[in-house]
Amino acid sequence: MQRSRSIPDHLYFPLPPARLDRTLAEAPLLPGVAAVYLSEIRRWRVAVVAAVASGDPAIAGIENLTPRALARLAVLLDTRWDARPRAWPAVSAYELSPFPATHPPSQADDPMKAVLEVMHWRAAVINYLTDVWDVLGKPELEMGECMAIGAFMRPVRMEGRCVYCLTEFNRERLDPEDHGCVMVRHAGAR
Ligand SMILES: [Zn+2]
Repeated sequence: MQRSRSIPDHLYFPLPPARLDRTLAEAPLLPGVAAVYLSEIRRWRVAVVAAVASGDPAIAGIENLTPRALARLAVLLDTRWDARPRAWPAVSAYELSPFPATHPPSQADDPMKAVLEVMHWRAAVINYLTDVWDVLGKPELEMGECMAIGAFMRPVRMEGRCVYCLTEFNRERLDPEDHGCVMVRHAGAR
């Protein structure tokens, strides 16, 4: 069986239209820009959910994207959690939450706030995928599975960008701690 190395471009997380290294109050995106970005993120979510649900051949061959990893990805992207994920010890430890479902962008009071909600959701997911395989005992996911899920959470071009706020920094400031990443406090990243 042929194994593809990467996912189709439209399933990568959309790149922010501007720097997200400062807070809402300091440097928010213009509402129109935030609303467009929000709709891109929502399109991404729907596309990934559909690809997972339909068993899209474009992602079927990806290494380590096991049935367990696909199921976990589907839950992470879900906008509602019923009882299912409570079984994961990691849900509370990583402050994981369902994908923040707000009103359609046109009706959102504050699209920037909605964008930040999604970025905080994403930061918690990244934090979980970075850590959860590296635990004592039997991890709920293996490292390869975490990397396969994480491929959907990153933009096509990740080089030089912070893993949490997706903003470009030079090498000395790239580490979230070194630029006081606005997403880290929420995600509880190390
Ligand atoms: Zn950052």
